[in-house]
Amino acid sequence: MDNAASLLLPSAPASQIPARAELSEERRSVRLRQRRQILAGIALAYFIDALILSIYARAGTTSAWVGPAFAATAILYWLIGLVVSETGFSDRFRDHYLTMPQALVNMAIMFAFASLAPEVGVVFVTALFIVLGFGSLRFRPQQAAAMWLIMTLGLGGLFLAADQPISMPHGNTLERLATMLVFTFTIGRSMFLGTFSRELRHSLYQNSLKLKEAYRIIEELAQLDELTGSFNRRSIMRLLDEEIGCARDTARPCSIALIDLDWFKRVNDAYGHPTGDEVLRTFAITAFANIRDSDRFGRYGGEEFLLVLPGSAHDEAKRMLERLQCIVAGLDWSAFSPDLRVTISAGVATLQSGDDIDSILARADAALYEAKAQGRNRVIISAYQTACSGTAEAPAAHRPAETRP
Ligand code: GH3
Ligand code: MG
Ligand code: MG
Repeated sequence: MDNAASLLLPSAPASQIPARAELSEERRSVRLRQRRQILAGIALAYFIDALILSIYARAGTTSAWVGPAFAATAILYWLIGLVVSETGFSDRFRDHYLTMPQALVNMAIMFAFASLAPEVGVVFVTALFIVLGFGSLRFRPQQAAAMWLIMTLGLGGLFLAADQPISMPHGNTLERLATMLVFTFTIGRSMFLGTFSRELRHSLYQNSLKLKEAYRIIEELAQLDELTGSFNRRSIMRLLDEEIGCARDTARPCSIALIDLDWFKRVNDAYGHPTGDEVLRTFAITAFANIRDSDRFGRYGGEEFLLVLPGSAHDEAKRMLERLQCIVAGLDWSAFSPDLRVTISAGVATLQSGDDIDSILARADAALYEAKAQGRNRVIISAYQTACSGTAEAPAAHRPAETRP
């Protein structure tokens, strides 16, 4: 129940509270609605107390003026509250419910009537429970302490400074009925406050879940490349590192592929940068559609992507990459331009003992270089991998991007 939470949550630090002018129209009307709810509750509480006072008056316990005077005071207080709220004056304050002033005024009313009509003091003293109970849901600790002190002083004045008894009348049936109603409604209102604060806790819990979900989404987005939705470089490198560790621990194979779009600069030059972006996006979607859930695909930089294939030995990785290469080469790009053709080249390397993230990437990069050198639109398995099978030489050094053809 968001409403309960916003009604009762303590005010945020002043720096976080927007000035009145900054409040959006929607926010302002929400706050107004919340204040109206509070005002309705206050009106109901005063109405019940005035009704009980009229029963006491009928029983002859108190003077006939007490009930109407109490009701008139309540109406005046309520009207002032209404004007302050409806004109938006309350929005100027950090705590737009004006909890402290409201609690102070309510306390003053209760103490004044308790000393004016001590023969029905029970009505006003028990009302203090509700006034301070409700206020406490929004008070900060210092405010609560200050209010408790003020209340103690008030009670001291009422019970100690004057010698009139503060009565809880129960001399006849009508008095007993009125006193019973005092307790019934006080306990009822206390219970309402209890459920209200329970709903507050529940609402806070729900909000914390929403916050957690939002945090999760933010974290997820922070891992992704904006354009292609694949992992960004930082994330794919972290995942590669994790997969290397995992492959080592489980003695399972792990292959990687560096994939580069061929002649991509020409795509940009001929069809424009936005079309180039669309090509990158379409390629990423195609790759996602053709890899396993366990595979990791990320943007290594520019038009170059890194695919991590946990559990795949080099021949399986080569097959997978050749399939992707054929699919990309066969894609219909006519939606972008009738004569647009896109192909990819890939360099594949498989994890070997003693490999680290740099050495395996260097081999995949050398294989990619070879794929480019052999004419593009092809997949080449790392030379060192082939060397292990007995046909070729050691790995080439990691090739800086600028040296590529
Ligand atoms: P090669 O076949 O040798 O890889 O040739 P190439 O043209 O693909 O390679 P080159 O490194 O010369 O050019 C890469 C181009 O990719 C240049 C750069 O403008 C473009 N590029 C990099 N990132 C983006 C991007 O996010 N969007 C677009 N549209 N183009 C990009
Ligand atoms: Mg390229
Ligand atoms: Mg490139």
